[in-house]
Amino acid sequence: MAVGVQRLLDSGVASGALRGRSHCLGCHRTLRWYELVPIASYAVQGGRCRVCGARIGREALVVEMVGAAAGALVVLGVVGLVVLLAG
Ligand SMILES: [Zn+2]
Repeated sequence: MAVGVQRLLDSGVASGALRGRSHCLGCHRTLRWYELVPIASYAVQGGRCRVCGARIGREALVVEMVGAAAGALVVLGVVGLVVLLAG
């Protein structure tokens, strides 16, 4: 199971979802997940990058959510496939 997931990651199928993290448009720093959650982001840093102060757009949030969802779907798909093959 873990080997299958690792192969999938190595093949690049899921790497885009997991590695294509959102970046700050100002300083190109990879954004942390909590910097993409609007409520937490605004509470902590006013919706801006902590390093350069550039605004974090909603596009980054959408990209992050889609990436997380895609990654979760890939993992669920692998688990489902393993269950099907094992059952
Ligand atoms: Zn920045």
